[in-house]
Amino acid sequence: ATPKRKLGVALVGLGYYSRDLLAPALQLTEHCELRGIVTGSPEKIPVWQEKYGIKDANVYHYGNMHRLANNPDIDVIYIVVPTGLHMKYSVIAANAGKHVWCEKPMAMSVQECQTIIDACRKNKVKLSVGYRMQHEPNTQTIMQYAQSRPYGALQTIDAVAAYAGNGLPADNWRMQADMGGGALYDMGVYAINGARYAAGLEPVAVTATRDFSHPKFEEVDNTTRLTLEFPEGIIANCRTSVVESGNRLRVNCADGWYRLAPMQSYNGVQGETSDGKKLDKFIANQQAAQMDNDAQAILNGTAVKVPGEEGMRDIAIVRAAIESDKKGERIVL
Ligand code: NDP
Repeated sequence: ATPKRKLGVALVGLGYYSRDLLAPALQLTEHCELRGIVTGSPEKIPVWQEKYGIKDANVYHYGNMHRLANNPDIDVIYIVVPTGLHMKYSVIAANAGKHVWCEKPMAMSVQECQTIIDACRKNKVKLSVGYRMQHEPNTQTIMQYAQSRPYGALQTIDAVAAYAGNGLPADNWRMQADMGGGALYDMGVYAINGARYAAGLEPVAVTATRDFSHPKFEEVDNTTRLTLEFPEGIIANCRTSVVESGNRLRVNCADGWYRLAPMQSYNGVQGETSDGKKLDKFIANQQAAQMDNDAQAILNGTAVKVPGEEGMRDIAIVRAAIESDKKGERIVL
């Protein structure tokens, strides 16, 4: 039999997530191979080349990554730089004629998200957003419940994605508003996306309050609370924080409830229902599953699970939350 074709992936930005999660996960995939790197840090190059056997010809920096257009080894460019740079490098990747995987949160504004979507459409390449939860089996059960409603009408949703961090140095992008730092962008999209997939509906209004009072987080929100109003009177209370912990998604229905806790960890996402069912399907590696699913969509010419429009909807809610907090008003979406 002819060996199955694997897709060559180039990682852009060799920081924490690429180094500790994506590159190891790529070794576990069936349909992908880590073949290229794009980095602004020359000292990382020999380390990565040695560890993953990356050819000299597949090493790029930000200034020459457009030349990936001429590299048949690479099928997919995975953007793993700070959020404020997602649009810039996603567009370069799409214009190089490569499929684009873009980390969460997709970009800073709806306009930036639309620019990425348009660049991918124009170049006829696929675009996936790195929402790993949507590839996780217990999360998928919650998504199915939103359709099948086994516990009757949905009433309230509680979505918390938070971790008690101590902050980072002020020059780290996670402490900078224009790079996508702060709780709402960095962690909030898990709660927002969770509320949306738990409801299986799109919210119609958002009311938010943001806290900037923590001494270590001057420029960015340390905690944001959002109330999302969905059709059918469903209300989601979301909380996201980088100074308090929390990791759960609970759905209260007319005839029972179900929950996931943790709802967005790399491992061990699990939950239960009010009638004692365990939501405890095992997944070996979320990132490997995500990348294999996204690779299969490319190889088979089928729809991706998490298209750009999905990332963009959450950014619309993030922006409405910012506006709500500033004006002290409920914002209709
Ligand atoms: P890091 O700060 O650890 O790494 C970011 C890397 O981006 C840097 O190491 C650097 O790589 C590159 N980079 C390029 N330009 C800049 C710049 N101006 N400032 C800083 N870094 C720059 O961040 P993470 O790896 O934690 O996060 C990267 C992205 O991945 C973010 O969008 C984040 O939201 C997302 N993420 C997603 C997770 C998930 O579970 N889906 C988990 C963690 C992060 P180099 O030196 O190679 O150029």
